[in-house]
Amino acid sequence: MEGFDTVISGGDVGDGTGAPRRRADIGIRDDRIAAVGDLSGARAGARIDATGRCVAPGCIDAHTHDDNIVFATPDMAMKASQGVTTVIAVNCGVSLAPLTLAGPPPPPLDLLGDRSAYRFARVADYLAALDAAPPATNIAAMAGHSTLRVGAMDRCDRAATADEIAAMRARLEAALAAGAIGFSTGLFYPPARHAPTEEVIALAAVAAAHAALYATHMRDEGDRVLDAIRESARIGAEAGLPVILSHHKVAGMANHGRSAETLALIDETRRRQRLGFDVYPYVAASTVLSAERVGVASRTLVTWSKRVPEASGRDLADIAREWSITPAEAVARLLPAGAIYFMMSEDDVRRILRHPEAMIGSDGLPHDDHPHPRLWGSFPRVLGHYSRELALFPLEEAVRRMTGLTAARFGLRDRGAIRPGAFADLVVFDPASIVDRASFAAPRGPAAGVGTVLVDGRALWRDAAPTGARPGRALRRGDLDAPMRDWRPAA
Ligand code: ZN
Repeated sequence: MEGFDTVISGGDVGDGTGAPRRRADIGIRDDRIAAVGDLSGARAGARIDATGRCVAPGCIDAHTHDDNIVFATPDMAMKASQGVTTVIAVNCGVSLAPLTLAGPPPPPLDLLGDRSAYRFARVADYLAALDAAPPATNIAAMAGHSTLRVGAMDRCDRAATADEIAAMRARLEAALAAGAIGFSTGLFYPPARHAPTEEVIALAAVAAAHAALYATHMRDEGDRVLDAIRESARIGAEAGLPVILSHHKVAGMANHGRSAETLALIDETRRRQRLGFDVYPYVAASTVLSAERVGVASRTLVTWSKRVPEASGRDLADIAREWSITPAEAVARLLPAGAIYFMMSEDDVRRILRHPEAMIGSDGLPHDDHPHPRLWGSFPRVLGHYSRELALFPLEEAVRRMTGLTAARFGLRDRGAIRPGAFADLVVFDPASIVDRASFAAPRGPAAGVGTVLVDGRALWRDAAPTGARPGRALRRGDLDAPMRDWRPAA
């Protein structure tokens, strides 16, 4: 037997398909898995002892806003510490490129940073910057509808004109040609709220021609969530491309329990067309601060405020009481700002997580002063809390929802799998102790139970710290498989 650069020995391998774990060694040569089996007699440049541990494909974070943090903190500790090896960026219609700005970015573009972050006139420039300064994890980026609108329109509180749509189509075409893997919208947010469905279809059709997919933060995740799912499906059907419903939830106390309806509609839609979704494992959402959202939440925490930085981490109700004003008035004083909203029910979160189509995506907001704990905790929370402690599904199934399923949905070729020929993106973890430690009170900090994490065979996380290696790559559409190519009509 030829030697290996690295052998991970003695671990229980959960291969990303959901199949039961089995004891096996993994031999790595260059950036790929070269062998899986008994490699006890093989020569190895290095050995990682995984006895008593689980070895899984590195997690793929299906939903991130990591577009800019990959430059600011390229060790990606908040993701590497969870076993994440690939992040899907540019969700909710917000991308850094293609856009340069004369003033401050309008919400929610400000979630990625201030004006200086918007420095890429073309997606090709953004991807080239990643090639020149690669992060520790892989990153695949979509192109954002709100960013296109802000760049092409003098004001966003109306439908785009035919000329503006043509300009956006040209920029989207260039983004996809450069390697963007999809087109995302945030139809809930002000920059895109006034875009009619037809505008989105006209743009999504450009993505369809590149075998890219459509991901959407829908127009409504509350009272009209079913209409919003139907709109998303219509966009996918008429433009002819796969759809991902982002961070699926039912928001607002009046809608608690309605995930039974939304999942039934998703299942019905999946009989006709390619549709998937991601979810984060928490009952609280997080985005920019708005009085509208405060109104449907049982509790609101401030995550950042430009004008009142010391409000970060505090309860909006306490701030309003201290200032002797209403919460809505406090919102106006804090803006621009971000918040965490407690507005989902635990039953809905569990029902959505349990659905076999549920990909795990953190939706973490890495630039927030006091971020939602999903940024540091999502993946270990699913493995430790929801799988081990609550037995929502077996550990192997939890692994599938963060690896093999996600790779298939996004078309990430040779990732999310443990088999000879796959990229050596791997995580070693202790199934008995892995759990999130980030909390709403103390939202930063690594999970328990995560050991070595490798991208392309190189360790980026070891002994509870980043190694300093930055083996990640900017993944481009042209290097990937077609998204959801394994799709068959649901039964
Ligand atoms: Zn979103």
